[in-house]
Amino acid sequence: MTVAAIIVAAGSGRRAGGVEKQFEPLAGTPVIAWSANSFKSHPQISEVIIVRPQGQRDDLDWLHDHADKIVEGGDTRTKSVLAGLSSVETSRVGKVLIHDAARPGLSHAIIDKLIAALDTTDAAAPAIAVSDALKRETPEGSWETVDRNALKRVQTPQAFRTEKIKAALSGQSNLVDDLAAIEAVGGSISFIPGDERLHKITFAEDFPFLEAVLAKPSSPEPAIRMGTGYDVHKFGDGDFVTLCGMEIPHDKGLVGHSDADVAWHALTDAILGALALGDIGDHFPPSDPQWKGAPSSVFLKHAAKLATEHGYQISNVDMTIICEAPKIKPHREAMRASTADLLQLGLSRVSLKATTTEQLGFTGRKEGMAAQASVVLSQEGPYR
Ligand code: MG
Repeated sequence: MTVAAIIVAAGSGRRAGGVEKQFEPLAGTPVIAWSANSFKSHPQISEVIIVRPQGQRDDLDWLHDHADKIVEGGDTRTKSVLAGLSSVETSRVGKVLIHDAARPGLSHAIIDKLIAALDTTDAAAPAIAVSDALKRETPEGSWETVDRNALKRVQTPQAFRTEKIKAALSGQSNLVDDLAAIEAVGGSISFIPGDERLHKITFAEDFPFLEAVLAKPSSPEPAIRMGTGYDVHKFGDGDFVTLCGMEIPHDKGLVGHSDADVAWHALTDAILGALALGDIGDHFPPSDPQWKGAPSSVFLKHAAKLATEHGYQISNVDMTIICEAPKIKPHREAMRASTADLLQLGLSRVSLKATTTEQLGFTGRKEGMAAQASVVLSQEGPYR
């Protein structure tokens, strides 16, 4: 399933001094082109759709340089969003990000977080806590303080599962934003940290303000990220355990929804942890029957692919298996090799150790096995 981006640029921009602010230059580039370029250069966005103002507009032919599709908008924002959504194929595009053209400061980090958030929620958006004191006028003409802790400033892009937003918006014509449609049908919403660079151009003075903000580089991704993972599975009936993708003979098996490979589960969590992208259960919910009996190579490959997509290479991994039995040492080199092979790493970058717990605790009582893993991701590489 792919991800589409819709940029809504159909507003008339009266508040910014009579101009269509989304098409005005900002530091030499049209406002709309800033976020269109962010979407187009993002590896997970498969199509960018721009919703342009109504009517014959030959003066906007240049928009084709910035979008895969141009769609004519409606006379309200909601109708414009619906026009954009009607060009998105639900069967092919699982997620859609809907963005205001007047918010040029869109980073890949925001897009990444929104796409990831949709794995566990119907809708997601960047939001910023309110830091000013807020006052509301009462019907009697006096003032009262509003609890700002209960309030958020919500930005765009707002991200949705395609079928959810299409269903929620149908029949609507004039909502404040698209999240309101999900609220109305009781869908789940999550917020990611907002970004002051996503400030919306509303007034003429917003242009010099944003030019100054966008001239500063956004905080770069760290060159190195590390993560840790830990996993436990209990013993049950069987005559082998799966460790690092290998069937190790034993007088018991490991119980789990998938193949219960504790070592690769811990390593998968370590990679996801390094990327701050949640855990294995977020990406492969145990409640989802398609993962029943799944080989854990699927999970580990997915995490490694996410690392690559985020610009990182695996620098080295270190796993520790914790059990009284089976004996790990006779299989250790083969397990290192299978892990190095799957991750396409040199063997010197994959460490595997084993320990007992001196017959203490659940591993000591031979009730199950545990594993922990650490990983370092680097922007350099790849390491073979
Ligand atoms: Mg597990």
